[in-house]
Amino acid sequence: MNANIVLEDVSLPIVYLSSEEIEAFRGSKEEVAEAFSYLWEDESVYHIHLTQPKHSFGKKEKVLVAKHASDLVSRYSDDSFLFFLLVNEGDCQLQMRKNGEIQACDLNYIPSKEDLYSRNKGILELDILESKRVMIVGLGSFGSQIAIELAKAGVGNFALFDFDRVELHNLARHTCTTKDLGRLKTDAIYDAVIGKNPYATVDRFPVNINKNIENGLLDEEVTKADIVICATDNNQSRFNLSEALVRHRKIGIFGRAITRAEGGDVFRYRPEGPCYCCMVGSGAFNSAEEEITNLEAARRDGRIPAYMAPEEAEAAVQVGLSADIEPICNLMVKLTLMELSRGKASGISSLEQDLVYDYYIWANRRENKYSNWAALPQSANMPTVLRWYGARIQKDEGCPVCSHTLRLDEGEDVFTLTDIDVNLDTEGLSL
Ligand SMILES: [Zn+2]
Repeated sequence: MNANIVLEDVSLPIVYLSSEEIEAFRGSKEEVAEAFSYLWEDESVYHIHLTQPKHSFGKKEKVLVAKHASDLVSRYSDDSFLFFLLVNEGDCQLQMRKNGEIQACDLNYIPSKEDLYSRNKGILELDILESKRVMIVGLGSFGSQIAIELAKAGVGNFALFDFDRVELHNLARHTCTTKDLGRLKTDAIYDAVIGKNPYATVDRFPVNINKNIENGLLDEEVTKADIVICATDNNQSRFNLSEALVRHRKIGIFGRAITRAEGGDVFRYRPEGPCYCCMVGSGAFNSAEEEITNLEAARRDGRIPAYMAPEEAEAAVQVGLSADIEPICNLMVKLTLMELSRGKASGISSLEQDLVYDYYIWANRRENKYSNWAALPQSANMPTVLRWYGARIQKDEGCPVCSHTLRLDEGEDVFTLTDIDVNLDTEGLSL
């Protein structure tokens, strides 16, 4: 086989191959293997896979892979192979059967782990992010987008929670496409995350954390996570998560859109700081303003009253634009990356002096609660649209969730009042 043929043939296809798969074949005892190429229809773009991908689109053709050119040459007459791939010590060489001839063909590599995020170098601490684990609860329009952004930034480990499937009404502002209809959101977002970072580990939990809280899964996963993103659309799950964050001293980022996404807010919990319950009690947060994206959930937590007729209730489900939730997702992503990189010098370290607040408010339009806000040109020192405002939340000393947490003996273990009730006589302890 003449590996030095260079054809100036613009009609040659674009071919991609995973360098990791090549390394695996190189290191194996196999001399010859059969692989497959997949054609993107009408695009003359092929992806070659030495291991069967989970799914693919387009025409599938066979590829002969070998370490010695002679093994390939001996099979040139076998019409069942479209490509012949030589894996030697240096660069691989690819040939293609075209118009009855065997021709050399350029080969592109899907980058190695080291190269994948090299453009983020200097801005983000890639080694740190690769080792971090992010738990995301809720994979709707917020959680799905945040998962993919974090994968793009180089976060290496994910725990994805959602019990819902991709439905037609979700699609307008969701990262999923019509190809994903009917699939569990955990599976669809798994594919999206792996598509961005094939080296990420992604654990999928298609469960309702409000129902499956007793079996310890929530506590187990919160313990394992470095940060928890709460992107659900109901207060019950936020309270459950908040309690787990306080119990396990983990950082949490909560975000939501208000009514028809005319605005939104983001809350960050840090251990020892005010918790989600303190924040709700502070009056900064009004659950009646909640964006209603899901009829069933809104019925359950009373945002749509039980007496409301079905047609009327259906009409109450009105979501905002995808472009209106993006700024809120964006701040949640920035806060997450900053928290994960905290203490290490990186290109985003200066944000630590900016994002010092517990609670952040954003307005997309001057509607409802923002109707008396100033128009952008006349705003001067008045609050206006399309910019963030930060607020500090007071820790509520009477908070039923966080103010009862005691640290005993300066040790690692944290006991809640309930635990202490069981083990100790609490009389005389000052809480
Ligand atoms: Zn609290």
